[in-house]
Amino acid sequence: MDVTTHAAVGTFAALGLAKGKEGSTEIWAAVFLGSMAPDIDAIFYLIDPRFYFEQHRTLTHTLGGVTLLSVVTAGLITVSSKKSSLFVLVLYAFVGGLIHLALDALPGYPLRPLAPLSSYDYALGLFWWRDPFFKVTALIGIGLILILPRFLARPFLVLGLLVMVGKVAVAFFLPR
Ligand SMILES: [Zn+2]
Repeated sequence: MDVTTHAAVGTFAALGLAKGKEGSTEIWAAVFLGSMAPDIDAIFYLIDPRFYFEQHRTLTHTLGGVTLLSVVTAGLITVSSKKSSLFVLVLYAFVGGLIHLALDALPGYPLRPLAPLSSYDYALGLFWWRDPFFKVTALIGIGLILILPRFLARPFLVLGLLVMVGKVAVAFFLPR
């Protein structure tokens, strides 16, 4: 999906998981940065656009790549703030990375998260790469989490994710 959808859904997940928690800033940063990190391969574009189009959505969009990026992301956060445990932040960043891969499976571009073990392409081809539904749902969720009491943050995160999964299920099982 496009970068604004990743940013909106990443912010939604980060807020929902972090609000009211001890070390919430670090948790927020880990989930958000973890959800954006796989597209760091966009820097290849600055080096060589052709190389970028060959390599985009490959190395950094595998479970191995996401794990490595989660360790780096969590490491950078713990270096700048020693409030949270590295291991816990790696897990939060990894959750963010999985959300990124889930969103990137929705359009029709190849996605092989199990490479190099398996080259199976998980792209579902169900949505346009800039489909606004997920971004709009996330933005509504962000608004609700910001104004509602903290104990409602996780329920609203779960509700928002269920709405998104429901939309995917409808598109999958009831194709037009
Ligand atoms: Zn991506």
